[in-house]
Amino acid sequence: MSNKSIVRVRFAPSPTGLLHIGGLRTALYNYLFARRFGGTFVVRIEDTDQTRFVPEAEDYIFDALAWAGIQPDESPRHGGDFGPYRQSERLELYRTVAEQLVRDGHAYVAFDTEEEIDRMRASGADGAPARYGTATRGAMSNSLTLTPEEVSRRISASEPHVIRLLVPEGREVSFTDAVRGPVSFHSDELDDQVLLKSDGYPTYHLANVVDDHEMAISHVIRGEEWLPSTPKHLLIYEALGWEAPDMAHLPLILSPTGGKLSKRSGDKYGIPVFVLDYRDQGFESEAVINYLALLGWHPSSDRERFSLEELTTEFAIDRVGSSGVQFDIDKLRWFNEQVLREMPTARLVEAVAPYVAGAGFEVSHEELIPVVELLHDRLSHARDILQYREFFEDPASYEEKAVKKRWKEDTSDIIRSLADELAALEDWSAPHIEQGFDRYVETSGFGRGRVMPATRIAVSGRASGPDLFPSLALLGRTTVLRRLSAAADVLAVEAS
Ligand code: GLU
Repeated sequence: MSNKSIVRVRFAPSPTGLLHIGGLRTALYNYLFARRFGGTFVVRIEDTDQTRFVPEAEDYIFDALAWAGIQPDESPRHGGDFGPYRQSERLELYRTVAEQLVRDGHAYVAFDTEEEIDRMRASGADGAPARYGTATRGAMSNSLTLTPEEVSRRISASEPHVIRLLVPEGREVSFTDAVRGPVSFHSDELDDQVLLKSDGYPTYHLANVVDDHEMAISHVIRGEEWLPSTPKHLLIYEALGWEAPDMAHLPLILSPTGGKLSKRSGDKYGIPVFVLDYRDQGFESEAVINYLALLGWHPSSDRERFSLEELTTEFAIDRVGSSGVQFDIDKLRWFNEQVLREMPTARLVEAVAPYVAGAGFEVSHEELIPVVELLHDRLSHARDILQYREFFEDPASYEEKAVKKRWKEDTSDIIRSLADELAALEDWSAPHIEQGFDRYVETSGFGRGRVMPATRIAVSGRASGPDLFPSLALLGRTTVLRRLSAAADVLAVEAS
């Protein structure tokens, strides 16, 4: 993408709440871009909006990145030569730059009250609010319309005021976006953006530009919602005589039916919207990362499965699409399943253990190993282990539909005599159980198709599940015989 040889990119979240999954994708693309080009990945906390500041949000951001395996090179918590990395610790700098812009005639001081601004906005044609800009600024209370003496007097009297960017008239502001190609805005459509607020804090626009420059950011990779801000930023760079970074705006993440993926639409489709909800719902971070990488980026081959490490060599910003991408939770589940399948048993045991314990079962890691080995390819989610509760407790009930279909009047007797056959086995191993089972099938004349589902129902409560004979072997003779007998009793009553 670039003519810039030293790559420094940044993820610049505002600590206003829980980190959205779209924010993690932005962080990921920045991280991958940095790794691909041997560059530096900076995390900067953009905390200049006092009204929306949430104290816990910064912890959440770093916890989310750590969970995802995205390691910042520089940040308020990782240090670096370009700090401080929290904007609230750099306020002096923004003020100095804003004042310099005023001195150089690229910005001006404005004293308008809220009512005056509301009145100006209401004067817009066709019901659209008017801009504070080329067409309206001449009628407002600012240093362009007031005498220098009046301006000084008002400032000395501590009248509330802001500093606004003086957007030049009749200019085309154009740039090439690495994702969207050539983009152009007309300056008459831009607001004279507030740069410094009356509380002395910078707006996002000023602080963002100043910091991208001061932190030597080479490429800005961020969500599409920031595209309309870019021409204002470019005008600020120009006014300051600074070279702007290259720009890349990532496509929006949409709900399955289109429209922005919000908390509300996410809830509707069972899509977690905040990053750590994925962790808390037992998704593997590697699956989430793999899925997010493909949510907007197209690899050069059909391959879909990538580890984070592999992505760092594959990812290319010029293969990011420009149109919105719909979030598909089933696809994410598919990735999760792939990740679980590739996991060594020991790690899968670690992943499922909290769910098993959380459901109140006291099972050691040792005991979980054979269960996990048996179920390895059947789990698309660590929590799915709880669909196989038969490995931890006797069935509390039997699936109604299965019983109706599979448990006839004589089934209880069949199961009792099968139990007798199995009780006599010398060796309780899967092959021996299978032999005993087949012997029974043969001598009794009841087909496998009748005996097998009934056995499953008796031991697990369901007519389907993992391989039967290894399951019986794992459950142990006492448990299996107990369950066969219990089911024969309970279901005999139901079937009659
Ligand atoms: N602070 C902005 C945000 O919360 C950063 C936008 C940008 O990357 O420029 O997303």
